[in-house]
Amino acid sequence: MERYYQPEIETMPVEQIRAVQSEKLVKQVKHAYEHVAYYRSKMDEAGVSPEDIRGTEDLYKLPFLSKEDLRIAYPTGMLAVPMSECVRIQSTSGTTGRRVIAFYTQEDIKLWEECCARALTAAGATKEDVVQVSYGYGLFTGGAGLNGGSHLIGSLTLPMSSGNTDRQIQFMMDLGSTVLCCTPSYAAYIGETLKEQGYKPEDIPLKAGIFGAEPWTEEMRQSIEETLGIKAYDIYGLTEISGPGVSFECSEQGGMHINEDHFLAEIINPITGEVLPEGEKGELVFTCLDKAAFPLLRYRTRDICQLFRTKCSCGRTFIRMKKPMGRSDDMMIIRGVNVFPSQIEAVLLKEGYSANYQIVVDRVNNTDTFDVFVEFLPEHFEDTVRDIANKERKLQEAIRNMVGISPKVHLSEPKTITRSEGKAVRVIDRRKLHD
Ligand code: ADP
Ligand code: ZN
Repeated sequence: MERYYQPEIETMPVEQIRAVQSEKLVKQVKHAYEHVAYYRSKMDEAGVSPEDIRGTEDLYKLPFLSKEDLRIAYPTGMLAVPMSECVRIQSTSGTTGRRVIAFYTQEDIKLWEECCARALTAAGATKEDVVQVSYGYGLFTGGAGLNGGSHLIGSLTLPMSSGNTDRQIQFMMDLGSTVLCCTPSYAAYIGETLKEQGYKPEDIPLKAGIFGAEPWTEEMRQSIEETLGIKAYDIYGLTEISGPGVSFECSEQGGMHINEDHFLAEIINPITGEVLPEGEKGELVFTCLDKAAFPLLRYRTRDICQLFRTKCSCGRTFIRMKKPMGRSDDMMIIRGVNVFPSQIEAVLLKEGYSANYQIVVDRVNNTDTFDVFVEFLPEHFEDTVRDIANKERKLQEAIRNMVGISPKVHLSEPKTITRSEGKAVRVIDRRKLHD
């Protein structure tokens, strides 16, 4: 039944993982060098030839690739096989700029779907489950990836896509969905709507959720788990490297195992590019070991993260990555202080508010303004103006303790902040418009 638990791969001793990676790396570098003119000239410029790469120990010699490279090479400049060998494209969400296109051969799709099947399996899904895929379908990788993974396991798959929340709930109830796949912000929204419709956690057939595609805090995990009565698992991926399933959480729910037979991970200092030892925080970099159509080597994700290879109770030996709490480009610098949206989210949930919030940054008279909009809870309806002002002050104080600077907090009525059906937009930075 658990066809996509592959212990012979997922529990390999570390030396064996290294050997598999080394062998694949040597081949992959040759493949990219021979078929991608853009990467060949990058390697030539760096003075490295495929013969210099004899194993993972030589990885550091290769030049990095960045999103900027993919934009320059858009649309087909990174393609390593004839277009006729490709069966699909997907595209990034364009969260941080122009969209990037990734190509897949039939085999690339198969390996990606297997990664998603491993993730579903690790969250307990089997053939008996009903998997509701409420990630967006289309160019976005979320829907397609989990859909494929769910099929491989043989689960009944509901290709809902995102949006139309009432229909999501109707199908969930009528068909008894046991696993929900969507962004954490959409899971919170579905949970909120279920609650409003009078459903209690025990009325909801779900047992697990696989949530990713955006950063989310432990506090948010707890709140979703309570509302839906499930275990909520994290899943990570990016279009350039394939899509969701690059890494996934297991029953321990303590970081995500990277599918190391396909993806080789490094952490670097984002400023100097120096490779950092295991455990240190820095920018996550991936090398695709198997992908034929779009074989990215040392691709800089801009996700800030940590890797660790401690023993895991699930038995998997694949290295784990901590929840990425934001990208280097999510980080706001407000009055000279570094602030991540996830820090604000953690405070709001800890203080008992919902994850419906928005941060607005602007510059007035050469000074940064920092406003946090958050909804008060239905039970605060009876509050006086003074009560509300006190609550705002208390939140302001708590955020200042967390990030070091004080925002202006605005409590507003429930439902005034737009709900997310895909990736939530947490920050509106108006300063960029003036620059
Ligand atoms: P875009 O870069 O346009 O958002 P993608 O849709 O491919 O394109 O999104 C990939 C990015 O989404 C990752 O680089 C990462 O920043 C974020 N992401 C994906 N999964 C997670 C997760 N589980 N936790 C935090 N961030 C995530
Ligand atoms: Zn594990």
